[in-house]
Amino acid sequence: MKNLQPAASAELYRRAQNVMPGGVSHELRFRQPHPLYIERARGAEKWEVGGRRIIDFKMGSASQLLGHCHPDVVAALQRQASETIFTSDCHRMEVEWAEAINSLYPSAELTRFTSSGTEATMLALTLGRAFTGRSGILRIDGHYHGWHDYLSKGAKAGSKKAVSLGVPKAIQSLAAVVPASLEIIRERLKDHRFGTIILEASGANYGSVPFPPGFLEGVRTLATEAGAVLVFDEIITGFRWSPGGLQSRDGIVPDLTALAKVLTGGLPGGAIAGRANIMALLDPEVCWNGLSPPVSHKGTFNASHLVAAGAMAAMQHLKTGKPQAQADAMAQKLRAGLRTILSDLSIEGAVYGESSTFHIYLGECDGTVRALSPKSIRGMPSAMVEAIRNALLADGVELMSYLSGVTSAAHDDALIDEALGIFEMVFRELKRAGVIGKTRRGRTQ
Ligand code: PLP
Repeated sequence: MKNLQPAASAELYRRAQNVMPGGVSHELRFRQPHPLYIERARGAEKWEVGGRRIIDFKMGSASQLLGHCHPDVVAALQRQASETIFTSDCHRMEVEWAEAINSLYPSAELTRFTSSGTEATMLALTLGRAFTGRSGILRIDGHYHGWHDYLSKGAKAGSKKAVSLGVPKAIQSLAAVVPASLEIIRERLKDHRFGTIILEASGANYGSVPFPPGFLEGVRTLATEAGAVLVFDEIITGFRWSPGGLQSRDGIVPDLTALAKVLTGGLPGGAIAGRANIMALLDPEVCWNGLSPPVSHKGTFNASHLVAAGAMAAMQHLKTGKPQAQADAMAQKLRAGLRTILSDLSIEGAVYGESSTFHIYLGECDGTVRALSPKSIRGMPSAMVEAIRNALLADGVELMSYLSGVTSAAHDDALIDEALGIFEMVFRELKRAGVIGKTRRGRTQ
Protein backbone atom coordinates (compact mmCIF):
# COMPACT_ATOMS: atom_id res chain seq x y z
CA MET A 1 0.00 0.00 0.00
CA LYS A 2 1.25 3.48 -0.83
CA ASN A 3 2.45 5.60 2.04
CA LEU A 4 0.45 8.81 2.37
CA GLN A 5 2.20 11.90 1.00
CA PRO A 6 2.29 13.99 4.15
CA ALA A 7 1.00 17.52 4.00
CA ALA A 8 3.44 18.40 6.80
CA SER A 9 6.51 18.34 4.49
CA ALA A 10 4.68 20.50 1.94
CA GLU A 11 3.82 23.02 4.63
CA LEU A 12 7.42 23.16 5.92
CA TYR A 13 8.67 23.63 2.35
CA ARG A 14 6.26 26.55 1.87
CA ARG A 15 7.80 28.23 4.93
CA ALA A 16 11.37 27.23 3.97
CA GLN A 17 11.10 28.93 0.58
CA ASN A 18 10.60 32.26 2.36
CA VAL A 19 13.75 31.96 4.46
CA MET A 20 16.30 29.81 2.59
CA PRO A 21 17.32 29.93 -1.10
CA GLY A 22 15.25 27.23 -2.79
CA GLY A 23 14.09 26.25 0.70
CA VAL A 24 17.11 23.97 1.22
CA SER A 25 20.53 23.81 2.90
CA HIS A 26 22.11 21.57 0.20
CA GLU A 27 21.07 21.77 -3.43
CA LEU A 28 20.65 18.00 -3.74
CA ARG A 29 18.02 17.98 -0.99
CA PHE A 30 15.79 19.96 -3.32
CA ARG A 31 13.07 17.92 -4.99
CA GLN A 32 9.65 18.52 -6.47
CA PRO A 33 6.94 18.81 -5.31
CA HIS A 34 8.83 19.39 -2.04
CA PRO A 35 11.87 18.07 -0.15
CA LEU A 36 11.55 15.42 2.54
CA TYR A 37 11.48 16.68 6.11
CA ILE A 38 12.71 13.85 8.30
CA GLU A 39 12.15 13.87 12.03
CA ARG A 40 13.37 10.45 13.17
CA ALA A 41 15.72 7.75 11.93
CA ARG A 42 16.68 4.35 13.37
CA GLY A 43 18.74 1.61 11.80
CA ALA A 44 18.00 1.59 8.07
CA GLU A 45 14.64 3.37 8.30
CA LYS A 46 13.51 6.95 8.72
CA TRP A 47 10.22 8.74 9.21
CA GLU A 48 9.05 11.89 7.51
CA VAL A 49 7.09 14.55 9.40
CA GLY A 50 3.52 13.30 9.32
CA GLY A 51 4.66 9.72 9.81
CA ARG A 52 5.63 8.29 6.42
CA ARG A 53 8.16 5.44 6.86
CA ILE A 54 11.05 5.16 4.40
CA ILE A 55 13.54 2.32 3.83
CA ASP A 56 16.75 4.28 3.50
CA PHE A 57 19.40 3.64 0.85
CA LYS A 58 20.81 7.17 1.15
CA MET A 59 21.95 6.67 4.75
CA GLY A 60 23.06 10.23 5.45
CA SER A 61 24.81 10.53 2.06
CA ALA A 62 26.68 7.29 2.84
CA SER A 63 27.86 8.49 6.26
CA GLN A 64 25.77 6.17 8.47
CA LEU A 65 27.44 2.82 7.84
CA LEU A 66 26.49 1.54 11.30
CA GLY A 67 22.85 2.51 10.75
CA HIS A 68 21.04 5.57 12.03
CA CYS A 69 21.44 6.26 15.75
CA HIS A 70 23.65 3.30 16.63
CA PRO A 71 23.12 2.91 20.41
CA ASP A 72 26.86 3.07 21.22
CA VAL A 73 27.33 6.27 19.20
CA VAL A 74 24.25 7.83 20.79
CA ALA A 75 25.42 6.88 24.31
CA ALA A 76 28.91 8.29 23.66
CA LEU A 77 27.42 11.56 22.39
CA GLN A 78 25.12 11.84 25.39
CA ARG A 79 28.00 11.18 27.80
CA GLN A 80 30.29 13.62 26.00
CA ALA A 81 27.64 16.34 25.71
CA SER A 82 27.36 16.43 29.49
CA GLU A 83 31.18 16.67 29.84
CA THR A 84 32.41 18.99 27.08
CA ILE A 85 30.86 19.80 23.72
CA PHE A 86 33.71 21.93 22.47
CA THR A 87 36.39 24.17 23.94
CA SER A 88 38.68 24.71 20.94
CA ASP A 89 41.52 22.86 22.73
CA CYS A 90 43.45 19.67 22.20
CA HIS A 91 42.05 16.55 23.89
CA ARG A 92 42.70 12.84 24.45
CA MET A 93 40.10 11.53 21.98
CA GLU A 94 41.62 13.28 18.95
CA VAL A 95 44.92 11.55 19.73
CA GLU A 96 43.20 8.15 19.98
CA TRP A 97 41.22 8.88 16.81
CA ALA A 98 44.36 9.74 14.80
CA GLU A 99 46.10 6.64 16.22
CA ALA A 100 43.19 4.52 14.95
CA ILE A 101 43.34 6.06 11.45
CA ASN A 102 47.11 5.75 11.22
CA SER A 103 46.97 2.11 12.21
CA LEU A 104 44.24 1.24 9.69
CA TYR A 105 45.30 3.24 6.57
CA PRO A 106 48.55 2.20 4.86
CA SER A 107 49.12 5.77 3.58
CA ALA A 108 48.49 7.38 6.97
CA GLU A 109 51.65 8.27 8.85
CA LEU A 110 50.14 11.50 10.17
CA THR A 111 46.54 12.76 10.21
CA ARG A 112 45.10 16.29 10.34
CA PHE A 113 41.38 16.69 11.07
CA THR A 114 39.15 19.09 9.14
CA SER A 115 35.49 20.04 9.46
CA SER A 116 34.22 18.46 6.23
CA GLY A 117 35.20 16.32 3.27
CA THR A 118 35.35 19.41 1.07
CA GLU A 119 37.90 20.94 3.41
CA ALA A 120 39.90 17.70 3.37
CA THR A 121 40.28 17.61 -0.43
CA MET A 122 40.97 21.35 -0.53
CA LEU A 123 43.78 20.92 2.02
CA ALA A 124 45.13 17.93 0.07
CA LEU A 125 45.51 20.12 -3.03
CA THR A 126 47.31 22.85 -1.07
CA LEU A 127 49.66 20.24 0.40
CA GLY A 128 50.29 18.76 -3.05
CA ARG A 129 51.10 22.16 -4.53
CA ALA A 130 53.30 23.17 -1.60
CA PHE A 131 55.21 19.88 -1.55
CA THR A 132 55.89 19.70 -5.30
CA GLY A 133 56.08 23.41 -6.00
CA ARG A 134 53.83 22.75 -9.00
CA SER A 135 50.39 24.35 -9.18
CA GLY A 136 48.66 22.10 -11.75
CA ILE A 137 46.19 19.39 -10.72
CA LEU A 138 45.03 16.40 -12.75
CA ARG A 139 41.48 15.42 -11.91
CA ILE A 140 39.33 12.70 -13.47
CA ASP A 141 36.24 13.45 -15.53
CA GLY A 142 33.10 13.43 -13.38
CA HIS A 143 34.75 12.71 -10.03
CA TYR A 144 33.27 14.63 -7.11
CA HIS A 145 35.52 16.02 -4.38
CA GLY A 146 33.27 18.56 -2.63
CA TRP A 147 32.07 21.99 -3.58
CA HIS A 148 35.21 24.17 -3.40
CA ASP A 149 36.32 26.13 -6.47
CA TYR A 150 39.46 24.15 -7.29
CA LEU A 151 37.70 21.03 -8.59
CA SER A 152 34.45 22.55 -9.75
CA LYS A 153 35.62 22.15 -13.33
CA GLY A 154 35.12 18.54 -14.39
CA ALA A 155 32.72 17.58 -11.60
CA LYS A 156 30.03 16.93 -14.21
CA ALA A 157 30.95 13.99 -16.44
CA GLY A 158 31.65 14.96 -20.01
CA SER A 159 31.90 18.69 -19.30
CA LYS A 160 35.05 20.76 -18.92
CA LYS A 161 33.11 23.68 -17.45
CA ALA A 162 32.92 24.58 -13.78
CA VAL A 163 29.62 23.43 -12.29
CA SER A 164 29.17 26.83 -10.66
CA LEU A 165 29.28 30.46 -11.63
CA GLY A 166 31.77 32.53 -9.70
CA VAL A 167 34.78 30.24 -10.11
CA PRO A 168 37.58 32.48 -11.42
CA LYS A 169 39.14 31.46 -14.75
CA ALA A 170 42.58 31.58 -13.08
CA ILE A 171 41.49 28.89 -10.61
CA GLN A 172 39.83 26.80 -13.31
CA SER A 173 43.04 26.86 -15.33
CA LEU A 174 44.91 25.06 -12.52
CA ALA A 175 43.02 21.79 -13.03
CA ALA A 176 43.11 19.63 -16.14
CA VAL A 177 40.20 17.22 -16.58
CA VAL A 178 41.36 13.84 -17.88
CA PRO A 179 39.55 10.56 -18.58
CA ALA A 180 40.52 7.44 -16.63
CA SER A 181 43.19 6.61 -19.21
CA LEU A 182 46.78 5.80 -18.26
CA GLU A 183 48.06 6.87 -21.68
CA ILE A 184 46.50 10.33 -21.38
CA ILE A 185 47.66 10.79 -17.78
CA ARG A 186 51.20 9.73 -18.77
CA GLU A 187 51.19 12.35 -21.55
CA ARG A 188 49.81 15.12 -19.29
CA LEU A 189 52.41 14.40 -16.60
CA LYS A 190 55.15 15.23 -19.12
CA ASP A 191 54.02 18.81 -18.56
CA HIS A 192 55.80 19.59 -15.30
CA ARG A 193 53.11 22.08 -14.23
CA PHE A 194 51.12 19.12 -12.92
CA GLY A 195 52.19 18.01 -9.43
CA THR A 196 49.01 16.58 -7.89
CA ILE A 197 46.58 13.88 -9.08
CA ILE A 198 43.28 13.46 -7.26
CA LEU A 199 40.60 10.83 -7.84
CA GLU A 200 37.70 9.07 -6.16
CA ALA A 201 39.22 5.72 -5.23
CA SER A 202 36.01 3.90 -6.26
CA GLY A 203 35.70 5.52 -9.68
CA ALA A 204 33.28 8.43 -10.13
CA ASN A 205 30.33 8.77 -7.77
CA TYR A 206 31.02 5.85 -5.43
CA GLY A 207 31.76 3.56 -8.33
CA SER A 208 28.89 4.34 -10.70
CA VAL A 209 31.63 4.79 -13.31
CA PRO A 210 34.10 2.02 -12.43
CA PHE A 211 37.78 2.28 -13.38
CA PRO A 212 39.22 0.02 -16.06
CA PRO A 213 41.11 -2.95 -14.53
CA GLY A 214 44.62 -2.04 -13.35
CA PHE A 215 43.97 1.70 -13.53
CA LEU A 216 44.74 2.59 -9.90
CA GLU A 217 47.97 0.55 -9.85
CA GLY A 218 48.96 2.29 -13.09
CA VAL A 219 48.25 5.78 -11.76
CA ARG A 220 50.28 4.98 -8.65
CA THR A 221 53.27 4.09 -10.84
CA LEU A 222 52.85 7.14 -13.08
CA ALA A 223 52.61 9.52 -10.10
CA THR A 224 55.74 8.05 -8.54
CA GLU A 225 57.67 8.33 -11.81
CA ALA A 226 56.58 11.97 -12.25
CA GLY A 227 57.23 12.93 -8.62
CA ALA A 228 53.55 13.90 -8.32
CA VAL A 229 51.46 13.66 -5.15
CA LEU A 230 48.68 11.09 -5.53
CA VAL A 231 45.54 11.85 -3.51
CA PHE A 232 42.88 9.20 -2.99
CA ASP A 233 39.52 10.68 -2.11
CA GLU A 234 38.29 7.89 0.17
CA ILE A 235 35.46 9.99 1.57
CA ILE A 236 32.98 7.29 0.57
CA THR A 237 35.23 4.21 0.32
CA GLY A 238 37.00 4.93 3.63
CA PHE A 239 35.86 2.55 6.40
CA ARG A 240 33.31 1.18 3.90
CA TRP A 241 35.33 -0.82 1.35
CA SER A 242 37.24 -2.14 4.39
CA PRO A 243 38.22 -0.71 7.82
CA GLY A 244 41.30 0.70 6.04
CA GLY A 245 39.41 1.78 2.92
CA LEU A 246 40.13 0.76 -0.65
CA GLN A 247 43.88 1.20 -0.16
CA SER A 248 44.06 -1.44 2.55
CA ARG A 249 41.73 -3.84 0.69
CA ASP A 250 43.57 -3.55 -2.64
CA GLY A 251 47.08 -2.71 -1.43
CA ILE A 252 47.43 0.48 -3.52
CA VAL A 253 48.87 3.24 -1.36
CA PRO A 254 48.39 6.92 -2.23
CA ASP A 255 50.49 9.76 -0.80
CA LEU A 256 47.51 11.52 0.77
CA THR A 257 44.03 10.26 1.68
CA ALA A 258 40.92 12.39 2.15
CA LEU A 259 38.42 10.97 4.65
CA ALA A 260 35.00 12.05 5.97
CA LYS A 261 31.47 10.61 6.39
CA VAL A 262 31.94 7.17 8.06
CA LEU A 263 35.22 8.46 9.57
CA THR A 264 33.30 10.53 12.10
CA GLY A 265 30.67 7.94 12.96
CA GLY A 266 28.39 9.99 10.72
CA LEU A 267 28.97 13.38 12.35
CA PRO A 268 30.27 16.51 10.61
CA GLY A 269 34.00 16.41 9.94
CA GLY A 270 36.83 15.09 7.83
CA ALA A 271 40.56 14.42 7.74
CA ILE A 272 43.64 14.31 5.58
CA ALA A 273 46.04 11.49 6.30
CA GLY A 274 49.31 10.85 4.54
CA ARG A 275 53.03 10.54 4.23
CA ALA A 276 54.93 12.15 7.11
CA ASN A 277 57.18 14.24 4.85
CA ILE A 278 54.14 15.87 3.18
CA MET A 279 52.05 16.20 6.34
CA ALA A 280 55.02 17.82 8.08
CA LEU A 281 54.20 20.95 6.08
CA LEU A 282 51.37 21.47 8.59
CA ASP A 283 53.73 21.28 11.57
CA PRO A 284 54.13 24.65 13.35
CA GLU A 285 57.66 23.59 14.35
CA VAL A 286 58.71 23.21 10.73
CA CYS A 287 59.95 26.28 8.88
CA TRP A 288 60.27 26.25 5.11
CA ASN A 289 60.81 29.22 2.82
CA GLY A 290 60.42 31.48 5.84
CA LEU A 291 56.97 30.12 6.69
CA SER A 292 56.13 28.25 9.84
CA PRO A 293 54.07 26.17 9.48
CA PRO A 294 54.77 26.05 5.75
CA VAL A 295 51.09 25.26 4.98
CA SER A 296 48.60 27.18 7.09
CA HIS A 297 45.46 25.33 8.16
CA LYS A 298 42.95 26.32 10.81
CA GLY A 299 39.26 25.54 11.46
CA THR A 300 37.39 26.25 14.68
CA PHE A 301 35.53 22.96 14.92
CA ASN A 302 38.21 20.53 13.65
CA ALA A 303 38.10 17.33 15.77
CA SER A 304 35.71 18.78 18.34
CA HIS A 305 35.24 16.83 21.58
CA LEU A 306 31.71 15.83 20.62
CA VAL A 307 32.51 14.60 17.11
CA ALA A 308 35.59 12.74 18.31
CA ALA A 309 33.52 10.97 20.98
CA GLY A 310 31.00 9.78 18.37
CA ALA A 311 33.80 8.79 16.01
CA MET A 312 35.66 6.75 18.63
CA ALA A 313 32.46 4.92 19.62
CA ALA A 314 31.91 4.08 15.94
CA MET A 315 35.57 3.12 15.49
CA GLN A 316 35.24 0.25 18.01
CA HIS A 317 32.82 -1.39 15.56
CA LEU A 318 34.31 -0.19 12.27
CA LYS A 319 37.78 -1.58 12.98
CA THR A 320 36.40 -5.13 13.35
CA GLY A 321 35.18 -5.31 9.74
CA LYS A 322 31.86 -6.81 10.93
CA PRO A 323 29.59 -3.86 10.02
CA GLN A 324 31.19 -3.74 6.57
CA ALA A 325 30.58 -7.48 6.06
CA GLN A 326 26.88 -7.15 6.92
CA ALA A 327 26.42 -4.06 4.73
CA ASP A 328 28.24 -5.76 1.83
CA ALA A 329 26.09 -8.89 2.14
CA MET A 330 22.92 -6.81 2.04
CA ALA A 331 24.07 -4.88 -1.04
CA GLN A 332 24.97 -8.13 -2.75
CA LYS A 333 21.50 -9.51 -2.01
CA LEU A 334 19.90 -6.32 -3.29
CA ARG A 335 21.98 -6.30 -6.49
CA ALA A 336 21.11 -9.96 -7.17
CA GLY A 337 17.41 -9.29 -6.57
CA LEU A 338 17.44 -6.22 -8.82
CA ARG A 339 19.08 -8.20 -11.63
CA THR A 340 16.34 -10.81 -11.37
CA ILE A 341 13.68 -8.08 -11.53
CA LEU A 342 15.19 -6.51 -14.66
CA SER A 343 15.48 -9.90 -16.30
CA ASP A 344 11.92 -11.01 -15.34
CA LEU A 345 10.48 -7.75 -16.67
CA SER A 346 12.71 -7.81 -19.80
CA ILE A 347 14.17 -4.41 -18.97
CA GLU A 348 17.55 -3.80 -20.58
CA GLY A 349 20.21 -2.56 -18.20
CA ALA A 350 22.88 -3.39 -15.66
CA VAL A 351 23.01 -3.68 -11.87
CA TYR A 352 26.47 -3.38 -10.39
CA GLY A 353 28.54 -1.93 -7.56
CA GLU A 354 31.23 -2.84 -5.08
CA SER A 355 31.14 -3.27 -1.35
CA SER A 356 27.92 -1.84 0.14
CA THR A 357 26.84 0.13 -2.93
CA PHE A 358 24.48 -0.57 -5.81
CA HIS A 359 24.01 1.15 -9.14
CA ILE A 360 21.25 0.59 -11.68
CA TYR A 361 21.84 1.55 -15.30
CA LEU A 362 18.81 1.35 -17.58
CA GLY A 363 19.52 1.43 -21.29
CA GLU A 364 21.29 -0.42 -24.03
CA CYS A 365 24.32 -2.33 -22.74
CA ASP A 366 25.77 -5.83 -22.54
CA GLY A 367 24.58 -6.33 -18.94
CA THR A 368 27.55 -4.32 -17.68
CA VAL A 369 28.60 -0.67 -18.05
CA ARG A 370 32.17 -1.54 -19.09
CA ALA A 371 31.78 -0.37 -22.68
CA LEU A 372 29.89 2.85 -21.82
CA SER A 373 31.42 6.32 -21.45
CA PRO A 374 31.06 8.18 -18.12
CA LYS A 375 28.81 10.66 -19.92
CA SER A 376 26.40 7.97 -21.05
CA ILE A 377 26.37 6.18 -17.68
CA ARG A 378 25.53 9.48 -15.99
CA GLY A 379 23.32 10.52 -18.88
CA MET A 380 20.25 8.35 -18.36
CA PRO A 381 17.18 10.42 -19.30
CA SER A 382 16.52 12.61 -16.28
CA ALA A 383 12.73 12.34 -16.65
CA MET A 384 13.01 8.54 -16.32
CA VAL A 385 15.40 8.76 -13.37
CA GLU A 386 13.14 11.25 -11.57
CA ALA A 387 10.02 9.17 -12.28
CA ILE A 388 11.66 6.06 -10.80
CA ARG A 389 13.04 7.89 -7.76
CA ASN A 390 9.68 9.55 -7.08
CA ALA A 391 7.69 6.34 -7.51
CA LEU A 392 10.05 4.48 -5.16
CA LEU A 393 9.75 7.24 -2.61
CA ALA A 394 5.98 7.26 -2.84
CA ASP A 395 6.15 3.59 -1.86
CA GLY A 396 8.70 4.18 0.89
CA VAL A 397 12.18 3.60 -0.61
CA GLU A 398 14.76 6.36 -0.96
CA LEU A 399 17.89 6.12 -3.12
CA MET A 400 21.04 8.23 -2.70
CA SER A 401 21.70 9.74 -6.12
CA TYR A 402 20.59 8.84 -9.65
CA LEU A 403 19.57 5.17 -9.47
CA SER A 404 22.25 4.35 -6.91
CA GLY A 405 22.40 3.83 -3.19
CA VAL A 406 24.21 2.34 -0.24
CA THR A 407 23.40 -0.22 2.42
CA SER A 408 24.45 -0.23 6.08
CA ALA A 409 25.05 -2.72 8.86
CA ALA A 410 21.45 -2.10 9.92
CA HIS A 411 19.88 -3.38 6.69
CA ASP A 412 18.68 -6.94 7.11
CA ASP A 413 17.13 -9.66 4.95
CA ALA A 414 13.57 -8.62 5.76
CA LEU A 415 14.17 -4.98 4.78
CA ILE A 416 15.94 -5.94 1.55
CA ASP A 417 13.09 -8.32 0.64
CA GLU A 418 10.56 -5.59 1.35
CA ALA A 419 12.53 -3.08 -0.73
CA LEU A 420 12.86 -5.56 -3.62
CA GLY A 421 9.08 -6.00 -3.61
CA ILE A 422 8.73 -2.22 -3.98
CA PHE A 423 11.36 -2.04 -6.76
CA GLU A 424 9.53 -4.82 -8.61
CA MET A 425 6.16 -3.07 -8.36
CA VAL A 426 7.58 0.30 -9.41
CA PHE A 427 9.56 -1.07 -12.36
CA ARG A 428 6.55 -3.09 -13.54
CA GLU A 429 4.22 -0.07 -13.34
CA LEU A 430 6.66 2.31 -15.03
CA LYS A 431 7.40 -0.19 -17.77
CA ARG A 432 3.68 -0.59 -18.39
CA ALA A 433 3.37 3.23 -18.52
CA GLY A 434 6.22 3.39 -21.07
CA VAL A 435 8.52 5.40 -18.77
CA ILE A 436 11.07 2.59 -18.50
CA GLY A 437 12.08 0.75 -21.62
CA LYS A 438 12.63 3.71 -23.91
CA THR A 439 16.15 4.06 -25.20
CA ARG A 440 17.73 7.45 -25.76
CA ARG A 441 16.71 7.30 -29.41
CA GLY A 442 13.08 6.96 -28.30
CA ARG A 443 12.77 3.33 -29.43
CA THR A 444 11.08 0.87 -27.05
CA GLN A 445 13.37 -1.96 -25.97
N1 PLP B 1 34.39 13.59 -1.92
C1 PLP B 1 33.45 12.65 -2.13
C2 PLP B 1 33.81 11.40 -2.88
C3 PLP B 1 32.16 12.83 -1.65
O1 PLP B 1 31.21 11.90 -1.87
C4 PLP B 1 31.86 14.01 -0.92
C5 PLP B 1 30.49 14.26 -0.43
O2 PLP B 1 29.51 13.70 -0.86
C6 PLP B 1 32.86 14.96 -0.72
C7 PLP B 1 34.12 14.71 -1.23
C8 PLP B 1 32.59 16.23 0.03
O3 PLP B 1 32.42 15.96 1.39
P1 PLP B 1 31.55 16.97 2.29
O4 PLP B 1 30.16 16.93 1.77
O5 PLP B 1 31.72 16.42 3.69
O6 PLP B 1 32.17 18.32 2.16
